[in-house]
Amino acid sequence: MIKINDVSLSDEMPLIAIKNTVLFPRIIVPLVIQRPKSVAALEYAMSRDNYVFFVAQRNLKDDTTVDDLYRVGTLGRIITSTRTPEGYKVDVEGIARVELQNFTQHEPFFKARGEMPNLRYTPDVESEALIRNILDVFKRVSETRIVPSVLSPLLFTINQSRDPSHLIDLLAVNLNLDYREQQELLEVFDVNEALRRVNLHLAREWEILQTEEKVAKETKKQLGKMQKEVFLREQLKSIEKELGVDGEKGEFDQLRKKLKQAKMPEEVEKKALKELERLERMPMFNPEISYLRTYLDWLVELPWSLKSENNIDLKKADRVLEAEHHGLSKVKERVLEHLAVQKRVGKIRGPILCFFGPPGTGKTSIGRSIASALGRKFVRISLGGLHDEAEIRGHRRTYVGALPGRIIQGIHTAGSRNPVFMLDEIDKIGQDFRGDPSAALLEALDPEQNHAFSDNYLEVPFDLSDVLFVTTANRLDTIPHALRDRLEIIEFSGYTDDEKISIARKFLIPKITKQHGLKPGAVIINDPVLRDVVSQHTHEAGARELERKLATIFRKIVRQLVEKKSNAKVKLTDELVHKYLGPARYTHQQMEKKDEIGVATGLVWTPVGGEILAIEATKMDGRGRLVLTGYLGNVMRESIHAAMSYIRANAKSLGINTDFYKEDVHVHVPSGGIPKDGPSAGVGMATAIVSLFTKRAVRKDVGMTGEITLRGKVLPIGGIKEKLIAAHRAGLKTVVVPEENKKDLEEIPAKIRKEMKLVFAKTMDDVLKVALQ
Ligand code: ADP
Repeated sequence: MIKINDVSLSDEMPLIAIKNTVLFPRIIVPLVIQRPKSVAALEYAMSRDNYVFFVAQRNLKDDTTVDDLYRVGTLGRIITSTRTPEGYKVDVEGIARVELQNFTQHEPFFKARGEMPNLRYTPDVESEALIRNILDVFKRVSETRIVPSVLSPLLFTINQSRDPSHLIDLLAVNLNLDYREQQELLEVFDVNEALRRVNLHLAREWEILQTEEKVAKETKKQLGKMQKEVFLREQLKSIEKELGVDGEKGEFDQLRKKLKQAKMPEEVEKKALKELERLERMPMFNPEISYLRTYLDWLVELPWSLKSENNIDLKKADRVLEAEHHGLSKVKERVLEHLAVQKRVGKIRGPILCFFGPPGTGKTSIGRSIASALGRKFVRISLGGLHDEAEIRGHRRTYVGALPGRIIQGIHTAGSRNPVFMLDEIDKIGQDFRGDPSAALLEALDPEQNHAFSDNYLEVPFDLSDVLFVTTANRLDTIPHALRDRLEIIEFSGYTDDEKISIARKFLIPKITKQHGLKPGAVIINDPVLRDVVSQHTHEAGARELERKLATIFRKIVRQLVEKKSNAKVKLTDELVHKYLGPARYTHQQMEKKDEIGVATGLVWTPVGGEILAIEATKMDGRGRLVLTGYLGNVMRESIHAAMSYIRANAKSLGINTDFYKEDVHVHVPSGGIPKDGPSAGVGMATAIVSLFTKRAVRKDVGMTGEITLRGKVLPIGGIKEKLIAAHRAGLKTVVVPEENKKDLEEIPAKIRKEMKLVFAKTMDDVLKVALQ
């Protein structure tokens, strides 16, 4: 039984599930009843006493099941109802909280048994304070939130309500709570606790309200400022007009003047003027203004008709190249030839120079010298790691932050349309989904096309036909094919220690001395000391590492001089080198101590220079196997097999008398941790193995290099200069090289040719004659 104001009601009632809202006692709400189950329950109730349990749903599902319903709801009474096409519109008055006990019916509508819970309330100081605070804050909050006509009766009711539980219900529906928060309040039967919760909700609401106000104020202020600016600008414009001074207009006029002065090709000027007109017409706050301005600035600043005098003076060029570089005679010659052809032809036609060689061998430096010899500007861009075509050709102007590509940027930096333009590292441009930069590069380099090079950003063609392009590369195999076809390769090989010493003496030391604020000769470096620095502290084929090491030494010397406030000359000694650069970093392989059986001296090429290499062979009882060790690459392994086959096939004539099936041969190349590859050690391998079987020792002072064929022929190899330098450094007296490498001898420094005997071999016999004792 449920008792309300002395009326007893059945504790079993029809139940209507409500979505997204909660009914509270003593509150009247309008509800729309449409779901068939709800309509059935409603009609059932109206046929009896108009009482229904209204229970909120945990979710927004349509086919509600028992599990979707909360367990606490409200007993409600239907006050009025109107039939609508979809169902009913009703006004419902909440009567009291009910706690559901069990469901007695599910279809065609829910029926449940419920009990009214006991609400507990202990009036104390805290609850009194809470009530006062709630009333106070609610008044403040609601003043901005609720329409006055609704507010005053509400406040009246709230103020009148001396029953705290009524207060809670009133606030539960009048605060901005969602149905879950409302349900929570419905389920609190301890009124003191409910007061605390309502108070919290109110405090939060108040906080939000204040923040909102602050934001609104800020926005208003900002808006005001912007409007003020617009207004002031407009005023400024009219003042300027009145006074006859020109502000922005003047700026445009100036731009127009500069456009005219830039002496652009007619077509470009037309385009530029058109864009300028567009700029002038643009409303003040159009964001495009700044892009358009940048664009026009680019057009104005490009050297459309600025160029250095085109006057190729070969004598002068020769002088400059000679004065600024040691050695490199072949390179200088090729460069001068190239220039001569150009002088003859007038325009730059034909292949592009490509300086190919290890880092630090003077490629950039020669490029610079060419520019200074021709009296032209020099620019250099690095293409290393470039993947995107847009890097070369620029982004379309529609992209935010778009800029011209590197070529046009380079021209801009040069400020001249006929600079010497160095494209560094063309062997390192990539190619992927972002487009193929080499295609764009080809267009820039191709004399047939580059008189109208199109950059995406500029949109107008630029004439690159007077630019002298020079490229550099560290390797050739990675240069895209189409590009490679257009290049004239000029090789820069590594330097010998002697060359490095000369370069240091003539160029690096004077340069570094000056850079460190010292007088010429302030640091005295003798040849032996310099040689030690070169051989023990540098390992590169080029001169850059040496330059860095020397700079380190100078820096430390300068520091000491400054600390001691001294201006004395300093003599560099081995001890000082050790102190400044640390212990010797590199040691080179030296010649073997004595002639030995089964050990031959080979020569190898590495990217940082040549090196000599002991090739060891030994044999043991076995069954004809060949064991190879020393981190050898496939090509090198195969060349050992070739050598072995040659020896077995020609055993007799080689004077070998052995049963190859009863012996295993082991070939090892020391420095097992360093990968080695290439065919050029073939001759050395064969020599070591022949020595092993004939028991004739190999001469320790003979080095050898060359590829071997099955018939015992000796084929040519690359890197001859570096290899001979290494052999010379190691103290070898004789070097056997393939006959066909004779043509490369010009490159070999005279000193080496003089101090070492070179033997040219066509066949293995030639090699063995020299190499074996
Ligand atoms: P690369 O462009 O080949 O990597 P650089 O031209 O930058 O090398 O040369 C590195 C440094 O070595 C520069 O300071 C350069 O002046 C110097 N250098 C290299 N070769 C020579 C040379 N033959 N004569 C004079 N200086 C040289």
